[in-house]
Amino acid sequence: MTNLQERTAELAANLATVEERITAACAAAGRKRDDVTLIVVTKTYPASDVRILSGLGVRHVAENRDQDAAPKAADCSDLPLTWHFVGQLQTNKVRSVASYAGLVQSIDRGKLVTALSKEAVRADRELGCLIQVALDAGADGRGERGGIGPGGVEELAARVAEAPGLRLDGLMTVAPLTGDYAGRQQAAFERLMDLSTAMRAAHPAANMVSAGMSSDLEQAVAAGATHVRVGTAVLGVRPRLG
Ligand SMILES: *Cc1c(COP(=O)(O)O)cnc(C)c1O
Repeated sequence: MTNLQERTAELAANLATVEERITAACAAAGRKRDDVTLIVVTKTYPASDVRILSGLGVRHVAENRDQDAAPKAADCSDLPLTWHFVGQLQTNKVRSVASYAGLVQSIDRGKLVTALSKEAVRADRELGCLIQVALDAGADGRGERGGIGPGGVEELAARVAEAPGLRLDGLMTVAPLTGDYAGRQQAAFERLMDLSTAMRAAHPAANMVSAGMSSDLEQAVAAGATHVRVGTAVLGVRPRLG
């Protein structure tokens, strides 16, 4: 077997395992499999892997650093993929991200909304936006790995909803490693669902709930997540922190 054939077989097997996990989690929760979308997080892995995944039927990929994502998205621009940006985003990267991302899941401050709106309009694109909720936010209302505390969601959602070029799609979270929710992923994801329900009173179309990664996708599906973001379980343990 060539390297390409080997890697294809490996990714196909990993995808099948993840698919089984999602299917089982949906069944256990009494949900339809179609209600949950798999987003494969390809950070630190090469464009060649993205190409293989596309061939295996993956339609949603995610990245967390613009300097890696921009060249990969350019390499793969012939593929039918939607790119999700899921990392902390500096305003000086916004023009680049707005050129390839279909969705930005890490909206956590007003300044970012203003910058993304300007660049989306300039590029004549509509960008889907998810507010990243930090369930471990400190007194300043901000999470250590990005995100805004629950108390800031409503106001930020209103800003996105009013911003030209942006579409408010929903909420995203990463299960906290510290604080009240440490080790309690399902409780964290249930809290995100409650925040989503509250937000949808004002923004009924913003029904995406992005939660759950390789180690806790079952808890996310049980809590009602519509999108899971899976890296390691599909691509393997990352060679470096990403
Ligand atoms: C890396 C990353 C993931 C995927 O994590 P795995 O544990 O590798 O599945 C999901 N969401 C975000 C925001 C990430 O940065």
